[in-house]
Amino acid sequence: MVSQIPKMQWAQVFEKTGGPLEYKQIPVKQPGPDEVLINIKFSGVCHTDLHAMNGDWPLALKLPLVGGHEGAGVVVAKGELVKDIEIGDHAGVKWINGSCLACDFCQQSDEPLCPHALLSGYTVDGSFQQYCIAKAAHVARLHKDIPLDAVAPVLCAGITVYKGLKESGARPGQTVAIVGAGGGLGSIAQQYARAMGLRVIAIDAGDEKKKMCLEQLGAESFVDFSTSKDLVKDVKAATEDGLGPHAVILVAVTEKPFQQAAEYVRPRGVIVCIGMPAGAYLRAPVFESVVKMITIKGSYVGNRKDTSEALDFYRRGVIKCPFKVVGLSELKMVYDKMRAGTIAGRYVLDTSK
Ligand code: NAD
Ligand code: ZN
Ligand code: ZN
Repeated sequence: MVSQIPKMQWAQVFEKTGGPLEYKQIPVKQPGPDEVLINIKFSGVCHTDLHAMNGDWPLALKLPLVGGHEGAGVVVAKGELVKDIEIGDHAGVKWINGSCLACDFCQQSDEPLCPHALLSGYTVDGSFQQYCIAKAAHVARLHKDIPLDAVAPVLCAGITVYKGLKESGARPGQTVAIVGAGGGLGSIAQQYARAMGLRVIAIDAGDEKKKMCLEQLGAESFVDFSTSKDLVKDVKAATEDGLGPHAVILVAVTEKPFQQAAEYVRPRGVIVCIGMPAGAYLRAPVFESVVKMITIKGSYVGNRKDTSEALDFYRRGVIKCPFKVVGLSELKMVYDKMRAGTIAGRYVLDTSK
């Protein structure tokens, strides 16, 4: 069953939180009975991977760790219980690597809430390696007509923002503010929002991201948080009646915008928190939240159905995510740019370099 699989492979590994990252050779593992081994061709780099290496969150991680959870590749081996996926099929490793499929949440398809969920690139080794293991029940099924480099960012960023937009309840014709619009999640969020018939206000910083949002991704307006003198006023002014957006999708990596959203969201509006800045708290004025009847909620990746739906949007050609390809060996450079907030769109790593 297992053929032409090397014993050793290249991977990006860190031994302890805070780094350093080491690009080195590690052994290739064999899949268990309910698992597949995927030869990762391309992997997107999500800000979550940087949070993991920094040790930003109050959730223990595996160490040493291979990060990465936007891995697209080819199935090269499978366990004896795996019946519905074949060697040679294209498949994707996403954040939810596996779940128990039996708990109260799994029974209701809320797999991300499973207390036993395995997290790729966090509690199990992820896609910053050439050969990655995932539970067969959870790997994303990728049609062979989908390019593996371009689809990689859909496997976390795409699924997550698609789910978040659904959670917002925003309806076609309504306006959504996307906060952190120039980053990986934000750029894809604009594309899903447009495909779902929503109007977009993009919020981020700098001319490169502004141009990308307005000219490439379909935002109707852009508010620069770094130069705006009154962001709340500017966001409200970007809606036709001046009453603010119907929904806010927060994918920023700093705390302040999480505090600001309640001030500009429209009465009855919904604020969806997706970004997870280290140590951040939500703080909203009680008075305004009550008299505007605001909803503030969290949204966490997506289940298997959200995955296949998000991929279907992509396959139909309505989602174009801006991405740049560099070698797996260049992950540190990507993290440096990510820390500086200078990535417009997503970086995708080619595991052959
Ligand atoms: P990214 O670094 O690509 O993008 C973040 C963007 O936020 C940058 O463009 C940055 O300029 C912008 N930003 C920073 N401060 C801002 C402010 N005050 N106002 C507006 N924009 C601001 O990161 P990413 O990969 O898109 O991830 C974003 C966040 O989403 C991370 O915290 C990540 O961990 C989280 N995430 C959550 C889920 C989930 O399921 N909830 C899934 C994936 C990622
Ligand atoms: Zn992610
Ligand atoms: Zn479960």
